[in-house]
Amino acid sequence: MTAPNIRSPRIRIADMTWYEFADRVKDNPIVFLPTGSVEQHGPHLPLLTDVILPVAVAEAVAGEVGGMVAPPVTYGYKSQPKSGGGNHFPGTLSLDANVFIALVRNIINELARHGVRKVVLFDGHMENQWFLVEAADLALRDQRAEGVHDLKIIKLGYWEFITKQTEKELFPDGMPSWELEHAAVMETSVMMHLRPDLVRVDLIPDHPPAVFPPYDIYPFDTRPIPPSGVLSSAKPATAGKGETVMRQVVPDIAASLLDAFGPLMSK
Ligand code: ZN
Ligand code: MN
Repeated sequence: MTAPNIRSPRIRIADMTWYEFADRVKDNPIVFLPTGSVEQHGPHLPLLTDVILPVAVAEAVAGEVGGMVAPPVTYGYKSQPKSGGGNHFPGTLSLDANVFIALVRNIINELARHGVRKVVLFDGHMENQWFLVEAADLALRDQRAEGVHDLKIIKLGYWEFITKQTEKELFPDGMPSWELEHAAVMETSVMMHLRPDLVRVDLIPDHPPAVFPPYDIYPFDTRPIPPSGVLSSAKPATAGKGETVMRQVVPDIAASLLDAFGPLMSK
């Protein structure tokens, strides 16, 4: 009598049966948790841009490393003027930090409870970063208390893997900064490459980069924030540039993760 074949080549945990999930976890795969935001991205990109992009990149990387991608955390920490235009734009739906931290901590603990030992917090929204660090730290503390000592967590922003060479192709005339890249050349280009159906090309804004003072003020001083919500010109965006980004970052992230988990995991 032969056992039924439940081996799954699937990447999305959401698409797996529980049999497939349980079978895959036995191999100690890298599990990706994309995190993003529901945030305005100018007149031309959808509110879920910070989720669509890290999910797509994480799925491509997972394909290269035999990993699995968990359903994403679609809401994120509050949009800030200097990196996301600010939390006041219509449609920007954000979480308080304690809620976001608790949510990510809970999901990591759930993955660990089912035997996952390699977790990648795969961020698409800059404002999340320190709260991801906190969630990882607290989940590691929880797991140590449970007697689990071999859980490893990596936190990354996929844009941080873009090399100087790719940067030159994206911005032949020099780039303002990654913060001011909100809804600008990189995000627009990758969306044009991956989801052209969601890009309003006719509405892509073209204005100079925002200039902010070297301090933050609350409530926000909205005067330095471009009314479009885009922090620097998105005009030079092309689908070809988006393809360049994907072609470069996907193998680079895959190689980094195999390297980072490799020596860490061998006891
Ligand atoms: Zn974004
Ligand atoms: Mn964002």
